[in-house]
Amino acid sequence: MSDQSNPFHIAQQQFDTAAELLNLSDNLRAVLRVPQRELTVNFPVKMDDGRTEMFTGYRVQHNLGRGPVKGGIRYHPAVDIDEVRALAMWMTWKCALVNIPYGGAKGGVVVDPKQLSLAELERLTRRFATEISILLGPEKDIPAPDVNTNAQVMAWIMDTISMHRGYTVPAVITGKPLNVGGSLGRVEATGRGVSLMVRELARRLSRPLEGMRVVVQGFGNVGSTAAILLERMGCTVIGISDATGGYYRGTGLDIAGMRTFTDRHSFRLLEGYSAPGVEKISGQELLELECDVLIPAALENQITERNASRIQAALIVEGANGPTTPGADAILAERGITVVPDILANAGGVIVSYFEWVQGLQEFFWTEEDVNEKLERIIVGAFDQVWEMAQRRSITLRLAAYLLAVQRVADANNTRGVYP
Ligand code: GLU
Repeated sequence: MSDQSNPFHIAQQQFDTAAELLNLSDNLRAVLRVPQRELTVNFPVKMDDGRTEMFTGYRVQHNLGRGPVKGGIRYHPAVDIDEVRALAMWMTWKCALVNIPYGGAKGGVVVDPKQLSLAELERLTRRFATEISILLGPEKDIPAPDVNTNAQVMAWIMDTISMHRGYTVPAVITGKPLNVGGSLGRVEATGRGVSLMVRELARRLSRPLEGMRVVVQGFGNVGSTAAILLERMGCTVIGISDATGGYYRGTGLDIAGMRTFTDRHSFRLLEGYSAPGVEKISGQELLELECDVLIPAALENQITERNASRIQAALIVEGANGPTTPGADAILAERGITVVPDILANAGGVIVSYFEWVQGLQEFFWTEEDVNEKLERIIVGAFDQVWEMAQRRSITLRLAAYLLAVQRVADANNTRGVYP
């Protein structure tokens, strides 16, 4: 992987830029530029046909300065240690930016879950949870869903850790199903946060939400929820893509119909979806559609130096982690395209994970209205801080978000000092 697309090098570059502007000491820079702990595990899983297959997984804890570490677990054939390192570092900044008491972590298993049966997926999940269990705990490291993992996978992890301990430990993981201690509003939280960021950005720029043309890359949990909520706010979602390609209709897609389609089809994909007036386009073409808001809600490195000059959106709100490379960022800024950065735009998920953890520890559960209202207060508050700093210093929203987040982490680390 070249330096330009290596997510960890990108994450370090973003950190270095902020550290320089914040005038952080060389010592602290050296501490924060690398993950504090990394665990690689190679483990066997019994397959349905009787064979035993080996899998590799990772759990990386970037920084524990502000509390236990938090971050999702993804299942993807292209996961590698550098991707997990980057995602862990981004979690540190994300939690600091929205000021919840966590450091950042991330996990991943190199696997295409679409190739596994449900029973194989469960065995893989339980064995991976066991391998990384030395790191996990409600006061240590609390995983959550990410790409290709969901509430059922979280339930298996919670059950595995609970079986080892001999009692139920709901707060060891978030994004659980409601019937085993999940939080109302958690499934929709990331997409809801994204939709709120679109609303706030539109408000600040005095652009009406009504009729705003939105394009969403990714129709998983984040992309589909954001599309539904934005449609409810009056936007017109004209383009959607997933791993099977792009779907476009200038007058607006039937998002509810597409969600019903994916809910019924294997692996929740849009493969084979068609409706009157819907044009099939490529994933690349989708990113370059003329629209008001583009929401990348899939994987890293989607908007790069190669396509940034062809993006025709006025605004970008990052539902995914790391969808825009620093090279692309510079081109977008030059072209006057406003970007709400990932560590702010997709923080809704970890904010409601925090609520789920608090509810689990207190064994006292909140209403959905309570959850949504608290989520809105936190994420809109963070948006306001980022917006104001960006205006005051004439910098991008990403740089403002990094300055606020990195400063908070630096302060916590400085106050605690270096042990021993
Ligand atoms: N995987 C999500 C993220 O990237 C959620 C993490 C969490 O809830 O801990 O923010």
